[in-house]
Amino acid sequence: MIDQKAVEFIRKHYREGLIVALTGAGISAESGVPTFRGKGGLWERYDPEVYAYPDQLRKLLNKDSAAVADFLIDLYTVLTKAKPHDGHRALALLEKEGVLSGIITQNIDNLHQRAGSRMVAELHGNAFRIKCMDCSRSMTYERDRITEMAGSIVLARSSKQRLLRVLNRYFPSCSCGGRFRTDIILFGETLPADALGQAHDLLDSCRMLFIVGTSLTVFPAASLPSYARKQGALLVELNNEETPLSGICDLVIRQPASVALPAIVESLGYA
Ligand code: NAD
Repeated sequence: MIDQKAVEFIRKHYREGLIVALTGAGISAESGVPTFRGKGGLWERYDPEVYAYPDQLRKLLNKDSAAVADFLIDLYTVLTKAKPHDGHRALALLEKEGVLSGIITQNIDNLHQRAGSRMVAELHGNAFRIKCMDCSRSMTYERDRITEMAGSIVLARSSKQRLLRVLNRYFPSCSCGGRFRTDIILFGETLPADALGQAHDLLDSCRMLFIVGTSLTVFPAASLPSYARKQGALLVELNNEETPLSGICDLVIRQPASVALPAIVESLGYA
C-alpha cells in the first residue's frame, strides 16, 4: 500500500507514454541480488579496487586465479538464481499498457527483460551478454549456459590452466579475430554510447521519472534525474532510504519496490 496523497499525486500528473523509470540495485534486492553497498553485497567480500577494475582483475588472474574463480562463482550464482518480482513485473505492465515509455537501468541482472520489459537502456551492461572487444558484436547467453559456466569454474577453481580453458570456452574468439569479454561495464570504463543515447531520448519526452532503488551515487547515472527535471519532468523517488536527491523530489515513497510499484499500477487502474 502507498498513501492516498501519493496515489493522487501520480494520478493527477502522469501522462500516458511519458513515464520513465530509472532503476538501481535496490529494485533487485528483493529478487536476491544484494545491493552495491548493502549487507551481504559483493563488495563486502571482494575489494572493488581489485575486482571492479579490468586491469586489476587481469593481474589477479595471474597471481591468484582461485580468488578470481571465487568472485565469478559468487557473482554468477547470485545472478542466475535471482527471479523478477512484482515490482519488475509492474514496470513491464505499465510499458505494455503504453503508460511507461521505457526503463533506464544501472542493473546488469537482466531482471527487467525477464519480467517482460522491452525498452531497457542498460547503462552498465548486462551480465548475460558477451561482447567482442574489437568489433563490438555481442551475444546473449541463456541463464542455463551461465549456470553451466559457473559450474565449470567451480571444477576448474584449483588450477589456473583449467580455469583459463573454461574462460576461453565461454569468452571465445570472435570471427573478426578479436576476443569476447563480459558486457558488464566495469569501474573506470566508458558507458555505452547507445544506452546513454536511449536514456537521453527517453528523458527528453519524460513527464514523470520514477527513481527506483538507486542511491544516486554512481555517475553519470546519478545526474539523469537533474537532466529529466530540466526537461520538465516531475521526480518521484521510490526508495527505502533517503538519497542525495530526496530533498528535491516532487514525491517520495518510502516503500520497498515490490510493494510500491504494484500499488501504483493498481491505483492507475492497470492491475
Ligand atoms: P546502491 O546499492 O548504491 O543503492 C541501492 C539503493 O536501493 C539504496 O538507496 C537503498 O536504500 C535502495 N533500496 C534497497 N532495497 C530497496 C527496495 N527493496 N526497494 C527500493 N529501494 C531499495 O545501488 P545503485 O545506486 O544502483 O548503484 C550500484 C551500482 O552497482 C550500479 O552501478 C549497479 O550497476 C551495480 N549493481 C548492480 C546490481 C544489479 O544488477 N542488481 C546489484 C548491485 C550493484
